Amino acid sequence: MSSVEQTLSIIKPDAVERNLADKIQKKFIQEKLKILKTKKIQISKEEASEFYKVHQTKPFFERLCSYLSSGPIVVMVLEGNNAIAENRRIMGATDPNNAEEGTLRKLYGISIDKNSVHGSDSVENAKKEISFFFKD
Ligand code: UDP
Ligand code: MG
Repeated sequence: MSSVEQTLSIIKPDAVERNLADKIQKKFIQEKLKILKTKKIQISKEEASEFYKVHQTKPFFERLCSYLSSGPIVVMVLEGNNAIAENRRIMGATDPNNAEEGTLRKLYGISIDKNSVHGSDSVENAKKEISFFFKD
């Protein structure tokens, strides 16, 4: 079964800083995900905390929010067949050490903190995350 979905992707500060945004966007296009919307922004630590609030009880929460707000990020709406799962497949495992060859996190991730990309994990979260960054 395949259905057309939209998902939120973020190119995190470590990847934007290393000028990897173009390469990462090309990879999505190659993999048949359409970039419907894209913008480069920097968010505050408060906004990062709101975005990542599902993780607020985790030991890494503080560090995660400081990190996501530490520099420019590129946020995108991706669309395609099974876009949510496809994006997560293209990204690879959370820890770059465990990510499959050829995935974005294997190619570009530095550590579990600086793992270069974010992708929504469900239809419900994709809706929430898209409207968090693109209010229209
Ligand atoms: N993270 C971390 N330490 C951990 C687990 C996660 O720093 O032990 C960070 C990591 O950057 C990850 C983000 O928190 O991308 C969100 O975690 P999640 O489990 O949702 O992973 P993802 O969905 O990004 O693969
Ligand atoms: Mg997640």
